[in-house]
Amino acid sequence: MSFLKNIFVLIKQVPDQGSKAGVNLDGTIDRAKARRMLNPFDRYALQAALDAKKNYGGQITAITMGPPLAIEILFEALEHGVDNTILLSDRSLAGSDTWATSYALKKTINYLGEFDLIFCGLQTTDGDTAQVGSQIAERLNIPQITYCEDFKIENEKIIARRVIEGGHQTLKAPLPCLITVANSYKALKYKTIHGAKLVQDIMREEEKKNKYIKILNINDIKANPDFLGIKGSPTIVSKTEKISEISGNCKILKGSKELSLELKEILK
Ligand SMILES: Cc1cc2nc3c(=O)[nH]c(=O)nc-3n(C[C@H](O)[C@H](O)[C@H](O)COP(=O)(O)OP(=O)(O)OC[C@H]3O[C@@H](n4cnc5c(N)ncnc54)[C@H](O)[C@@H]3O)c2cc1C
Repeated sequence: MSFLKNIFVLIKQVPDQGSKAGVNLDGTIDRAKARRMLNPFDRYALQAALDAKKNYGGQITAITMGPPLAIEILFEALEHGVDNTILLSDRSLAGSDTWATSYALKKTINYLGEFDLIFCGLQTTDGDTAQVGSQIAERLNIPQITYCEDFKIENEKIIARRVIEGGHQTLKAPLPCLITVANSYKALKYKTIHGAKLVQDIMREEEKKNKYIKILNINDIKANPDFLGIKGSPTIVSKTEKISEISGNCKILKGSKELSLELKEILK
């Protein structure tokens, strides 16, 4: 069965949790100090997009908005088997909150044209708001299914199982539709040999790079600069606090009968 045409997957580069990202005076993250990685939640979105292509056809375009270095996660997406990638990068995007981010990503999607499915991660490990996917669906005026952990497409409708507290819910929606993928979805599979070879070629040949990685600015997507960056962001970071590291005492108990008695005393 091959009836999908265009599948978009939105991925974001985040600071690696193990590295020390600082905080700027205005409360934003100082990303320059941090090691970078693909948002772990977006790995599930990527796998969902690859599954959609495998089962129902179409071309996958991975889209990210971020600084020029965010190109690294587009290489990673190509290694996993996406067909095209887009980096939206522009100085006027700096300082964008989720509202401005979803506006910029919506304009990017409009620029790219028709699509059947958009996959997003559940949330990010830096901003952590889980707002961007839903905001984009609202801005595009299309249905959204959040917390999706499995899906199939029948009669041009997506039937998705979503996680809810204490169980799951099955929803059916017409295409085009936006899906945020839960981390109970299948883990991202290995990179493909074809993808790894393609990225190697891209590193060597500028022409190939231009074919597979398109870099856009806000003029390309016809975005209004008033709706972007700090100016276009209604969120105000009033205060940030450094939380001191939590440490505890660790006691190692050895033995069998004595151990259970000692443990009983401790738990009391
Ligand atoms: C005042 C203020 C200033 C900020 N300034 C900056 C800044 O200068 N630079 C910066 O990087 N962040 C900045 N941020 C953080 C930025 O707003 C969020 O990182 C961004 O809007 C995404 O929100 P989130 O991380 O909570 O994503 P969530 O809503 O938790 O993400 C859900 C999903 O949406 C998709 N998604 C989210 N963001 C992107 C993206 N950028 N590209 C592609 N897909 C995406 C992914 O699929 C992701 O899994 C700022 C925030 C505030 C409040």
